[in-house]
Amino acid sequence: MTYLIVGGVAGGAATAARLRRNDEKAAIIIFERGDYISYANCGLPYYLGGTIKERESLFVETPESFKKTLDVDVRISSEVVDIDTETKTVGVKDLKSGREYRESYDALILSPGAEPLRPPIPGIDSERIFALRNVPDVDRLKGFVDANQPKRAVVVGAGFIGMEVAENLYDRGVNVTIVELANQVMAPLDFEMAAQVHDHLKMKGVELYLSDGVKEFADREGKLDITLNSGTSIVADMAVLSIGVRPETSLAKKAGLDTGKGILVNEYMETSAKGVYALGDAAEFREPLTGAPGITPLAGPAGKQARILADNLVYGKKKRYKGAIGTSVARIFDMTVASTGAAWKVLDREKIPAISVVTHGHSHAGYYPGATPMVLKLVFSPEDGKIYGGQIVGYSGVDKRIEMIAGVLRRGGTIEDLTELEQAYAPPYSSSKDPVNILGFTAENVLLGRSNHTNWKELHELIEKKEPNLFLLDVRTPDEYNLGSLPEAVNIPKEEVRTSLDRIPKDKKVVVYCGVGLRAYLVERILKQNGYRDVSILSGGMKVYKAAV
Ligand code: FAD
Repeated sequence: MTYLIVGGVAGGAATAARLRRNDEKAAIIIFERGDYISYANCGLPYYLGGTIKERESLFVETPESFKKTLDVDVRISSEVVDIDTETKTVGVKDLKSGREYRESYDALILSPGAEPLRPPIPGIDSERIFALRNVPDVDRLKGFVDANQPKRAVVVGAGFIGMEVAENLYDRGVNVTIVELANQVMAPLDFEMAAQVHDHLKMKGVELYLSDGVKEFADREGKLDITLNSGTSIVADMAVLSIGVRPETSLAKKAGLDTGKGILVNEYMETSAKGVYALGDAAEFREPLTGAPGITPLAGPAGKQARILADNLVYGKKKRYKGAIGTSVARIFDMTVASTGAAWKVLDREKIPAISVVTHGHSHAGYYPGATPMVLKLVFSPEDGKIYGGQIVGYSGVDKRIEMIAGVLRRGGTIEDLTELEQAYAPPYSSSKDPVNILGFTAENVLLGRSNHTNWKELHELIEKKEPNLFLLDVRTPDEYNLGSLPEAVNIPKEEVRTSLDRIPKDKKVVVYCGVGLRAYLVERILKQNGYRDVSILSGGMKVYKAAV
């Protein structure tokens, strides 16, 4: 068997390694357009910032080590320029010598990745504008920062790569401004969750321009003048573009393969052409939750696809790739931001009915020193409590909580499963009721009708339109209330509610709120059991509301 692989980084290199472990006799050739294979693209931002000190650490394997340990023929600076699916051959161009030749395959594996978007903005070709996708990109970017010690940088695009670049430039002492077309950073999050990150960025002194884009770049007197769509003008030493990626489909399209956003594949990673397979950032799968076609530009799914594909190629079509639920995590300055599954806004767009709840928790037992806060959001089905998605924003312990939710979600689990999830508990690590259990309890209360949540947006709209039927009940202490409350809210501290029911009307829509939601829930239970029919709590409390509004 001869396996040809296009692309030698995450998906391509992993497929080659597994193929060799499965088939000692096969001929395996990797064609890589660039000069490097199997490097840590996820580590590039941290090499820029100096956390990863040695450039060599980025290289997991080299063409030589691949040859030596795996007997894989790696051809770098070699671009596959066409595919003939009839003769089962590819055309290859040696980018150093210009020589062109053809190679035959029994199976062709496409893992060409994605390329950064570069819209035709005037001035975009300035030498002060950078992208970060591969090793030459980081060499150029880091080289500029090392040589010029820039004072101000603009990062355009607030996805996870943009945010990691921002953090690492900041670590190098650069003042960072972020410009983002959407009204929030980190698109997988719902707005109120992203709002926690907005506050953190402001606290760090990072300037944030949301709902705004770059209209023009201009090189002037050794600086970069950046004009935004809003008319705002920013003078910086450099800019990094991180506005998303486009799957590399050109080769596949030219060969007549079916493509959508990416190269269309089935659950066996088979493309529309016999003997041709695709994986990684370039492949388009159906998303398991919504059924919508989608790309998952993440390293974890690429590695899993590689293993399944290499096993199927050698042992027969036995394993299916069931799609990715998009579980991801990123460190943004001191914060950790993570999500899994679908955000509420995505389900809303797809018209899939969903309920969401927002809770607060701590990384470990509050009485044990060093606990840090986190905000958790769960999105689930109103029918049966099936979990659709989770989002967590906090400091430590966020990664393990998102994996707890993802593990349940991935198996089609429900909020009941979250309430029963058994975590490893000792005070330095968790609480006897983990924040994920609490999230499940809260969601279960809502599903069973024992608690009702009004989200920040619904409440904000009611307040904006001065809804006459609304009665806002603030159950915090008078000191907290005096530090800032919602318009026309009546303050009755939680402990006084039972003796002050005559001050709370039964014929109004009562929304109870406190700092994070716990006191409000306790009061909601008192009111519900005293005949109040239209009572709900502000989901996530004032902490979430204040960040979002
Ligand atoms: P790639 O790894 O990009 O490899 C594709 C290769 O194909 C490229 O080297 C390209 O040169 C080559 N190629 C393309 N066309 C041809 C051709 N015609 N002929 C020959 N060669 C060709 N994911 C995470 O899950 N977590 C993270 O923290 C994370 N951080 C990231 C940080 C950065 C800065 C970047 C850029 C990505 C990050 N990712 C992260 C995403 C992750 O790296 C990708 O999802 C993953 O690398 C995709 O693997 P792939 O094989 O599809 O593509």
